[in-house]
Amino acid sequence: MPTPDTTEFIAEARAWLAQQAPPRQATAWGDGDDSVAVFENWTAAEERAETDRIRRYEQARFDAGWGALTWPAEYGGRDLPLAHALAFQREEAAFDVPRRTEMFSVTQQLVAPTIAQWGTDEQKATYVRAMLRTDLIACQLFSETEAGSDLAAVRTKAVQHDGAWVLNGHKVWTSGARIADLGIAVCRTDPAAAKHAGLTVFLVPMDAPGVEVRPIRQMTGGSSFNEVYLDGVVLDDAQRLGPVGEGWKVALTVLAAERLDSGNLGLDNADRAVELARHRGPLSEIERDAVADLVTRSYVQRITGMRVAAAVVAGEAPGPEASVGKLLATDTMARTSEVVRMLLGPELTVDSGAWGTWAWTEHVLGAPGYRIAGGTDEIQHNILAERVLGLPREPRA
Ligand SMILES: Cc1cc2nc3c(=O)[nH]c(=O)nc-3n(C[C@H](O)[C@H](O)[C@H](O)COP(=O)(O)OP(=O)(O)OC[C@H]3O[C@@H](n4cnc5c(N)ncnc54)[C@H](O)[C@@H]3O)c2cc1C
Repeated sequence: MPTPDTTEFIAEARAWLAQQAPPRQATAWGDGDDSVAVFENWTAAEERAETDRIRRYEQARFDAGWGALTWPAEYGGRDLPLAHALAFQREEAAFDVPRRTEMFSVTQQLVAPTIAQWGTDEQKATYVRAMLRTDLIACQLFSETEAGSDLAAVRTKAVQHDGAWVLNGHKVWTSGARIADLGIAVCRTDPAAAKHAGLTVFLVPMDAPGVEVRPIRQMTGGSSFNEVYLDGVVLDDAQRLGPVGEGWKVALTVLAAERLDSGNLGLDNADRAVELARHRGPLSEIERDAVADLVTRSYVQRITGMRVAAAVVAGEAPGPEASVGKLLATDTMARTSEVVRMLLGPELTVDSGAWGTWAWTEHVLGAPGYRIAGGTDEIQHNILAERVLGLPREPRA
């Protein structure tokens, strides 16, 4: 399929963006914001305020027709090929628009498409457009203390009672639960059925009676994720997403989107670490090696991302390169930490107030989380081995 001509589209996008924000000028090294946070270190009030600030931009973008570019008109989209969405992303990166937190991609790239695929007409009408416009923010109520990699082991129960569903259980590591309007929850509806067969997914209003959010303090200092207690939460059957007993398939739709969405993670901070190396003066041979390695690997990550995008633009299913995207991203993040540790040494351990030094602790302490979030490295390796390379399955308990 030929790549569509986006010249006129790009000119229009640039004109709109120029009305929204100034260009993202490359400030001189040592000036401006030195944050390289992987997880923001915000109080609940700051998290709410920042989310609202980003949301205002997202809503303006959606209303002007630049939001849901690849979506059909019924959801406020323009039905354009992905090449246009990628072109818009490139243009947008040159302007100082608000930096999205992960909750925006969870809402727009993970949950909205899952509802569009599995929802009833009523659910689609209620939620999809509202999520693409970020009038509603969604969170993932998947993991539990005994069900992370083995998600199908969830124990949160949903039981039918008087025509309604009653949910009881405990979810953990829920990113953004403090600001989310709706949680997509994997629940056990048939304890007698085989593990993967007894699951059903529900859309839980986060302000429903019985929903309690308890922030978890992370090693970066912030609380971007939370425990969520579901204590006798009563839901109408209209809140069920997908057929009873088919929750595993619905959950897989979310997880597949999550893997595809992680390919570009960490690249900005890798670039920033390379800049740091440039400004630190003569490097030792070991340091030069580590920086060169980071540059090379971040190129590989970028090119892999382009191959995935090119496949999607050409209307083909992304191949094995989509599965390695998340592994490449977490590897880049770990190598960025290593380069920074080498270059800054003791400056990374004490807050001297110097620009661009202590700030890196937010990367170094945040990056390991991405080796776990959205499926651990080991689980990604298993997926590659078994589903992509067709190697024999690991023995299962
Ligand atoms: C920053 C962050 C944000 C998150 N956000 C959310 C969220 O919004 N919503 C949500 O529901 N969850 C969220 N999670 C949870 C995340 O999905 C789980 O932590 C993850 O799936 C791993 O599960 P676990 O923590 O229970 O570890 P476990 O599954 O107990 O794994 C422990 C260790 O065993 C290894 N292991 C497990 N099974 C295998 C296997 N079969 N083969 C080889 N090794 C294996 C793992 O790789 C890991 O090293 C988040 C996690 C993080 C870190």
